[in-house]
Amino acid sequence: MGFRWSRRGILQAGATASLGVFGGKHVLASPAFHINRSQGTRPLVISSGNGLEACAKAMEMLQADEDTLDAVIAGVNIVEEDPGDMSVGYGGLPNESGTVQLDSSVMHGPTRNGGAVASIEGIKNPSKVAKIVMERTDHVLIVGQGAQDLAKAHGFPVENLLTDRARERWLQWRENMSDRDDWLPVQRAGDGRGGLDPTADHGAADEFDPFFRYHGTINCNCVNADGDISGVTTTSGLSWKIPGRVGDSPILGAGLYVDNDVGAAGSTGRGEANLLDCCSFLAVEFMRQGMHPKDACLAVMRRVAAKTVDPRLLREDGTPNFSLNFYALNKAGEYGGANFRPSRFVVNDGGESRHEDSAYLWERDQ
Ligand code: ASP
Repeated sequence: MGFRWSRRGILQAGATASLGVFGGKHVLASPAFHINRSQGTRPLVISSGNGLEACAKAMEMLQADEDTLDAVIAGVNIVEEDPGDMSVGYGGLPNESGTVQLDSSVMHGPTRNGGAVASIEGIKNPSKVAKIVMERTDHVLIVGQGAQDLAKAHGFPVENLLTDRARERWLQWRENMSDRDDWLPVQRAGDGRGGLDPTADHGAADEFDPFFRYHGTINCNCVNADGDISGVTTTSGLSWKIPGRVGDSPILGAGLYVDNDVGAAGSTGRGEANLLDCCSFLAVEFMRQGMHPKDACLAVMRRVAAKTVDPRLLREDGTPNFSLNFYALNKAGEYGGANFRPSRFVVNDGGESRHEDSAYLWERDQ
């Protein structure tokens, strides 16, 4: 095993028993769910760091006694429709061909049901289509053209989701890919090569790094006053992905999992790492054994770290070189989040939404 623990990492994870224990006989020996600490608050909404408004909206709906899934979907719809968030819905960064392809999943605890869409094009709110898959079909996952056709049949307009800002970023990525093709990166203004004028405002291109693979997504989970639980994950996925690539977000058990008896978990970050271990399912199973949501998220991070052996994905010190976040809550209204390194997530327990620090295994510079 290539990675090493820092003293700090061990301290951070100190409250949690070893992976072997929770991944082994303790799991099998304790099938019944019990909550070992009852510090929770209900209703409660949590999300990835981009969900301040989403959690506020969902909380408002829970307080008005609306359905838990309707609440989190209405919350993430704000982000799906916001062109400023380039990782979700309208304005999301496109795939390698310049087409925006979206993934989303929903799970409704009370009815023990779920639905998802993947690689859907032209529909601003894939989370709403995922709910239609759940409620109006006998399927769980519909992809590509079939997902768009289903949305159209239910009255969704097909729209251009590629904003100028996202298109400019895609162009910059495309032009800087290689010096052996015919795409010429911007050299200087007015150089007669038909490139972009670098002095012009291309839409917040300031901090944009064309070589960086942008990740981003929103996961939002809630538990209402009665203890009913739902969750949603929605994303434009990995920027510049190979067309048709599907991440973890629409895969139940990976990007989202809800069990109304136990809790909910969801993720953002490198979907491929999550897909190989079905980590949202794993986090909920850890909670079922009595782990606090924060400890369940940390245990999942350790599982992924242990399974990451490809040198392409490791830093020199053997720790993963990518980001992956988990967010979890349980039926009692306890919650937590974790990443490999310091990160933040959003919590709303009835007042204003706030950021809280996630638990982590290693310091940022380590
Ligand atoms: N998890 C998403 C995916 O892999 C992207 C992200 O959250 O950054 O598609």
